[in-house]
Formats: sequence, structure tokens, C-alpha cells
Amino acid sequence: MKDFANQILQAAAIAITGHIHPDGDCIGSCLALRRYILDNYSSKQVDVYLEPIGSEFLFLDGASGILSECTEKKYDLCFVLDCSSEDRFTPFADIVKCAKTVICIDHHISNQGLGDFCKVDAKASATCEVLCQIFSFDKISTACASCLYTGIVHDTGVFKHSNTTKATMMYAGSLLEKGVDNAKIIDETFYQKSYVQNLVLGQALLNSRLTANGQIMFSSLSAEELEQYEASSADTNGIIDQLRSTKGVETAVFVYPLKEGGYKVSMRSNNKVDVAVIAQKFQGGGHIRAAGCTLYHTLEEIYQKIIPKIEEQL
Ligand code: AMP
Ligand code: MN
Ligand code: MN
Repeated sequence: MKDFANQILQAAAIAITGHIHPDGDCIGSCLALRRYILDNYSSKQVDVYLEPIGSEFLFLDGASGILSECTEKKYDLCFVLDCSSEDRFTPFADIVKCAKTVICIDHHISNQGLGDFCKVDAKASATCEVLCQIFSFDKISTACASCLYTGIVHDTGVFKHSNTTKATMMYAGSLLEKGVDNAKIIDETFYQKSYVQNLVLGQALLNSRLTANGQIMFSSLSAEELEQYEASSADTNGIIDQLRSTKGVETAVFVYPLKEGGYKVSMRSNNKVDVAVIAQKFQGGGHIRAAGCTLYHTLEEIYQKIIPKIEEQL
């Protein structure tokens, strides 16, 4: 990524954005890149654009300055992080479109190439791990390291998913050496749940169905249920992992309604099923063991469409 440093050197105003419904890796990678540029390149103006983030991430450096509305500002350079396709950054499409140069950094197997320069490493556990490859390690500050560590923790489910490699652990170890507060990041951004989050998890477990001899676990929450608990979409984070880690389950599917219409479908598998292929059949994307898509059908129709695709692979 020689281009990486050159492009930053040539740019005065830089925008950074990531995908809709930003997760820990999306937030961590955007804030880490911002901090890295501010720490190592003088007089750059860096703005991060993301949809509103969960309050558990607000302690990360630069989080309170994230812009959640698109502006008409024109940038010399725009980074698109953790996004596999253009429909993943729609709220900020104008910022990306109007930038002189666009660089995409990602780890989704479904990424077909975005922007003027694109670095995709599908073997990397997280976009934050790809940034670890690109950054000069001696130029990473504690604040930047904390953002990178957060992204890796979230996309690996605290180093337990099959995307965790020796390289992941080596980078994580080096980030610890930078003074990262790992207990705080793991406890407060990953494991800690609000009372509302626990209530919707309970409701999702009650709504769940097992099929294919207990190998597939499907669950959903309705708009009425989310309203009843005064829960937002961010309050559903982690439900899919509880389904996936149920004994005997190979593939988990969790569906909830989106504010903007349609249903978000999240899929996870343990060993056998390639859920990225299924998500791509429905214009979604992701990774082999974690993928998602948006469907505009009833909950029952979604069940009827998705479950046979998983059964075919089992
Ligand atoms: P999620 O279930 O939202 O945690 O997503 C799992 C993985 O699939 C993440 O890496 C997402 O970036 C990706 N993903 C989820 N939904 C979509 C979608 N509609 N289109 C493309 N990729 C998606
Ligand atoms: Mn992500
Ligand atoms: Mn990611």
C-alpha cells in the first residue's frame, strides 16, 4: 500500500466512512484510521461519517466527533472501510461520490472491488487487522491501538470465531503492548448488556425454532416486540451469537425489522455451511461463517426462503 501514504500526503481534507448499522469493527477501523492520520501526518483535516453508534463505543478516541448526517463538503480523499459493496454506505454515498480519490479497505470475501484503490484481505479477521498490516507499527498510539483492538475483538467474538488466526493473535498481542485496556474493551463493549438488550435476547430465545434435527436455529423479533421493549436495532447485537452457540446448532438465523423497511437477516455457521453464498443469493454479503442480507417479505416467507438454502448445504 505505497499508495496509502502517498494519497494521504497529497490530500488536505479526508473523509472516512463505513457500513450502515456500524459494528465494532466498522467503528474501530474508522476511528483508528482517523487517529493514525492525525498522529502521523501534519495539518490534515479528517472527518468520520457513520450512522449513530452504540453508547458503549463512545469512550473511543474521536467517537463523539463522528458526523451522522451527510454534508455537501467535498473531500480530496475518502476512505471506505469494512464495506463490501456500494449499497453498504448509502447514507454517505454523496461524500464518497464527490471525493477526488476513494480508497476501500476491507476483509469481506464478497467484496468485488470498490473505489480507485481497494485492499481486501478475506483472510483477515477484521478490517482493523487489515489496518494493522498497512500501518507502521511504531507509529500507532495507544488511542489508535484501542480502536484497532476493539474492531478485532468484535469481529472475532473475542478471539473465538474461526477467523481468528496466528496473525490475529500476534497483532492483538502487539496492540496490548501499546497499553490497550483489554479488560475494559472486552467487558464494556462486547459482553456488557443493558437490561433492554437482555429482555430482547430473552424474547428472541422464546421465539426461536429448531429445525433439521436441531442443526438450524431460527429466530426473529417483530416490530411490535421491539416497540414493546423500547429496543433499537443496536439492542439486538449478540442475539445471533447466542443462537449459534446452542448445543447441536450448525447454522443460526436471526431476523428483525429495519426502521427503513424490510428485514435484516443475520446468519452464522459453525463448521459446515457457507452462509456468505446464501447471503449473496439474496443480494447480501459477508464472510463464510458470518453473513447477512436484507429481505422485503414477511417473517414466514423469509423462513421459507432461507431454511431450504441452508438444508441444501447440510
Ligand atoms: P451481521 O449479521 O450484520 O453481523 O453481518 C455479518 C457479516 O455480513 C458482516 O461482516 C456484514 O458486513 C455482512 N453483511 C451483513 N448484512 C449485509 C448486507 N446486507 N450486504 C452485505 N454484507 C452484509
Ligand atoms: Mn462490519
Ligand atoms: Mn468487519
